[in-house]
Amino acid sequence: MRVSDILRKKGSEVVTIEPHHTVHDAIQSLVRNNIGALLVTGPDGQLVGIFTERDILREAASHSDRLEETPVGDVMTRNVVIGVPEDPLEYVMGIMTQNRIRHLPIMDGEELAGIVSIGDVVNACQRETEFENRLLKDYIHGVAR
Ligand code: AMP
Repeated sequence: MRVSDILRKKGSEVVTIEPHHTVHDAIQSLVRNNIGALLVTGPDGQLVGIFTERDILREAASHSDRLEETPVGDVMTRNVVIGVPEDPLEYVMGIMTQNRIRHLPIMDGEELAGIVSIGDVVNACQRETEFENRLLKDYIHGVAR
């Protein structure tokens, strides 16, 4: 299974925010959209960073009184680890585990093709395992008959 299999079902919609918006705006967007990460995009829509729940926790722990003033651009992660649609899920799991991240933006050339979370990967692997189990059970029952 590959990232493209997840995106085919999930779609390529990605919720973004611009760097001048505040951490408070980001919290509102995360809650409204029921998600854990925002991609931060520049004026031409290019990816300039990522901002997740973890970043909010960090900010809240050190500057909880400033969430309405702090721009996302000041506290986002700039070096974004990305994947491509052809990446196998085993590879994506490795990347997420090694980098201790739960969100992977997917780029198709210069274009954002979507975002994959650790939850999406676990769900896809579970579905695949269930399918394989069914095939094996059908095969075993067929042989035993
Ligand atoms: P997460 O586990 O995804 O909530 O993110 C944990 C930390 O890693 C946060 O500081 C994020 O900004 C950062 N992070 C999350 N995803 C990525 C990514 N794909 N590339 C770089 N940093 C990331």
